[in-house]
Amino acid sequence: MSDIWQRSFYIVLVIVITALLWMIFGAVNALVFCSFSLLWMVFHHVRHLVALERWLRVSDHTPASIPAGSGAWDDVFAHLARYVRQHSQSQELLSLALERMQRVTSAMPDGIVILDENNRIEWCNPVAEQHLGINLALDAGQQITYLVRQIPFVEYLAARKYSNPLILKQTRQQGIIVSLQLVPYGYKQKLLISRDITRFENLETMRRDFIANVSHELRTPLTVIGGFLETLSADEPVNADFNKRALALMSEQTARMQRLVEDLLILSRLENEQNKVNEKTVNVASLLQNILQDAESLSGGRHHIKLNIATQDQLLGSEEELRSAFANLVSNAIRYTPDGGEISIHWETQDGRGLFFVQDSGIGIEPEHIPRLTERFYRVDSSRSRETGGTGLGLAIVKHVLNRHQARLEIISRAGKGSRFNIWFPARRMIQ
Ligand code: ADP
Repeated sequence: MSDIWQRSFYIVLVIVITALLWMIFGAVNALVFCSFSLLWMVFHHVRHLVALERWLRVSDHTPASIPAGSGAWDDVFAHLARYVRQHSQSQELLSLALERMQRVTSAMPDGIVILDENNRIEWCNPVAEQHLGINLALDAGQQITYLVRQIPFVEYLAARKYSNPLILKQTRQQGIIVSLQLVPYGYKQKLLISRDITRFENLETMRRDFIANVSHELRTPLTVIGGFLETLSADEPVNADFNKRALALMSEQTARMQRLVEDLLILSRLENEQNKVNEKTVNVASLLQNILQDAESLSGGRHHIKLNIATQDQLLGSEEELRSAFANLVSNAIRYTPDGGEISIHWETQDGRGLFFVQDSGIGIEPEHIPRLTERFYRVDSSRSRETGGTGLGLAIVKHVLNRHQARLEIISRAGKGSRFNIWFPARRMIQ
């Protein structure tokens, strides 16, 4: 009520003065006064309206830029200033929240794309740009299917059954495998979550290959043993010669399976990261003397084997694991060197680092095989490997042992000319 009286104060004043003038000076003077007063009031309102219109049109809409007003306009502008202040505060809070959300989603290992109801890209984080080959600055507003064109994805999007993720092996980014999951939210909007599963898929492929390889390795000896057992258990008598040959072959195949299982157990122990290296000071010179004796018995005098110990430096590491790595390289040199060949085993230090190598004058290796030799079950010549008692796991074991000792394997070889396998140990593992 008081507000209405305040706002109407000037109008009431003009009416009262006009009435007094009418009574004292007559109607003409009173009407002249009244007209001028009304004109002044109209001018006052128009002036403020113009100021408001200009503020709405050209100003930066900050509270400071709101024009000053008088009379009733003072209140209007004060309210406007309060509203603008509150609005800019909530704007600030909103952009802070948005910035925080963008920072959080950018730090996420998963890609996130926001799609509108027509599957157009509204926003995506940098990880999604990388996974799906999107450039947000250029592609915002584009249909996602223009950029991720693979038929399985288009079908997945159309099927509207998003409970399971879709695995996409070929994206615009070469060499990465992504899993895509759509999550509907809000009003027909969708969140597309992408995850790089290349490592996981590769591990899965490795696991499948590994199981297939182990089964394949076990099948041949088991078939041989099974065949002989069937013949021996048949009712017809077998001659003593056959009996002897069968038993010899069965024990050979059993030994082959035993070697395979032993190597598999060693590998699984080495691969288990929880098994820490049992660090001890290893006397390499005496370890190599032992390995030389085993090598000579394996060679049976068919090769000239030399051992050269150029340093008495010892090595910090696991004796058992190092023995396994060195012995594998030495046994390979014997197995892949024809009779009469030369094999040298060597231990020295170079610039503080330890160098162990085995050099042979054997069959050598074609360059294209060298990078793959440490893969499990990778063999250049499978039949030669098997004939000489190989499991295809020797160099994989060597690689794991060296990784656990921060050492590096170097293979230098020429087909027909022989091979040299160097192992470099870091200086911090050397003990004088
Ligand atoms: P394997 O039990 O078959 O010898 P390894 O893992 O020890 O398995 O070796 C992998 C392959 O590397 C072998 O099958 C062989 O083809 C090749 N290789 C290893 N050492 C030598 C060597 N000293 N000379 C020639 N080839 C070698």
